[in-house]
Amino acid sequence: MADKVKVGLIQLCGCSGCHMSLLDLHEKLLDVLPNLEIVYAPIIADVKEIPEGIDVFLVEGGIRNEHDKHLVEEIREKSKIVVAWGSCAAFGGIPGLGNLYTKEEFLNTIYSTASTDNPGEIPSEDIPPLEEEVKPISKVVKVDLVLPGCPPRPEHNAEAIVALLEGREPQLSSKIVCDD
Ligand code: SF4
Repeated sequence: MADKVKVGLIQLCGCSGCHMSLLDLHEKLLDVLPNLEIVYAPIIADVKEIPEGIDVFLVEGGIRNEHDKHLVEEIREKSKIVVAWGSCAAFGGIPGLGNLYTKEEFLNTIYSTASTDNPGEIPSEDIPPLEEEVKPISKVVKVDLVLPGCPPRPEHNAEAIVALLEGREPQLSSKIVCDD
């Protein structure tokens, strides 16, 4: 392969578990890492700007607030392939349980009853405004590959990464979330 594939990783409204699942590739990492150049990954390195010209962006987590939304829009503009990585990015996942409540109920519960730090005050300057609901990233941008699982299974991560490196469609089971 002439050039390394430029890869971005990001966590939106997720728990970092999808990032951790990459480590479950164990020795398979040695097969793929030499062909990758990780150019943006806040969990690894403090790079402020998302660079242009990313080949594959793995997006963990759904859209909970305006900051998440702006980030995924920028990622879409700057990336050839965007992967909804894990069930939170694919479907909303566990954070999607927040959709059982309105945004107002959610904020009032967290900042009026659950918080003991300035109870009753909803900070407006320090946190990005919440969206009305948690959304899968496909509700905001076009997604090229959905890789569900909580977290995605290591063999599916491996197949997806290798396939994207080789420029082919990943061969994934039609049932990669749960078995009968
Ligand atoms: Fe965490 Fe599961 Fe969501 Fe991945 S899909 S961010 S492991 S809760």
